[in-house]
Amino acid sequence: MIHSLFDRLEEIYSELVDFRRDMHMYPEISNEEVETPKKIAEYLRNLGIEVKTGVGGRGVVGTLKGGKPGKTVALRADFDALPIQDEKKVDYRSRVPGVMHACGHDIHTSALLGVAKVLSEVREELSGTVVFIHQHAEEATPGGAKVMIEDGCLDGVDVIYGAHVMSHIPFGQFAVREGYFSSAQDDFKIEVMGKGGHGSMPHMTVDPLVTASQLVVNLQQIVSRNVNPLEAAVVTVGSFHSGEANNVIPDKAMIKGTVRTYNDEVRRNIEIALRRVATSTCEGTGAKANIEFFGDCPSIYNDSKETDRVKEMATLIFDEGKVVEAEPLMGSEDYSLYQQHVPGVYFIVGGENRDINAVYPHHHPKFNVDERSMKDISKVFISSVLNYLSDGKVKPEKK
Ligand code: MN
Repeated sequence: MIHSLFDRLEEIYSELVDFRRDMHMYPEISNEEVETPKKIAEYLRNLGIEVKTGVGGRGVVGTLKGGKPGKTVALRADFDALPIQDEKKVDYRSRVPGVMHACGHDIHTSALLGVAKVLSEVREELSGTVVFIHQHAEEATPGGAKVMIEDGCLDGVDVIYGAHVMSHIPFGQFAVREGYFSSAQDDFKIEVMGKGGHGSMPHMTVDPLVTASQLVVNLQQIVSRNVNPLEAAVVTVGSFHSGEANNVIPDKAMIKGTVRTYNDEVRRNIEIALRRVATSTCEGTGAKANIEFFGDCPSIYNDSKETDRVKEMATLIFDEGKVVEAEPLMGSEDYSLYQQHVPGVYFIVGGENRDINAVYPHHHPKFNVDERSMKDISKVFISSVLNYLSDGKVKPEKK
């Protein structure tokens, strides 16, 4: 069955390319998506799939009920674009000034629609349900996953699969890793409240600028002294604002920064340490710290059993030697939030192709990938769904 579905995917491939190029020409920025979710919903409705729009605000969820009872698998693709001017020389470059699909979310969306189409044609034979989660605002903080989950997109779901095309990995390659896969992202703001006064009379003040300066230095000790050296962690202060005039000691200083970790325990301990260092540094000078710590996004954690499943499918689909162990991803992805509720996997397919100049990094004005990566994502999704729903029985034949 899987191979006839792969053949069908081949037949509808040009339709997926059309959908992707239309998305590419008319990208919509995170939390401003209006036409994109409409187009997705329309495509799914035409397949006879039950569709919910406005999930978590702008998300679209399609539910395909198979002809036989069984478990429920969710597949997720994001559909937002970025505030970047498209500088590619291709006829389908962005028609919207300053907005561009520079991360491949158009590829993810079109690949998932291809899966929906192919599976919808064999729905009577499916044992179980497939939920298509089309997510808005992946690039925003907080992203669309949180609100879509709150709005019930995972209700009844047993397992979830997600994918990303990568422009630094050659087309034709597949990568995944078990366990922690992307870094968690947390952001913080610390307002140091002092007591302002005349620059010539510091003894009458509590100088927040000096206190905050000490704080920036003290925060550097969290990673070097509080985190196990075998664990990865970053604490970065990216913004420091205080004072306006040369002879005025200001009332307050504001520090903003970001924390990146993999392990959940390291992540929690850094928050505790950060609060302690900020509070004690301020106490030491008589200032006061107002601390805000935003737990924005945990690390993606790939379930071991599901990673094995998806890896096995990939080994049967991709050429010999093309299934590799992925490096941990830098940066965060709110796909991780789905995995806080249900086990799942997030995998990578290659999109780099020098012949078509698809060599630029993600979020670059000339970013592009080989569109055939859509088929790679679709094939892994299709076979993982059928394998899961058949309890491991259905598999593609070795290529
Ligand atoms: Mn992305």
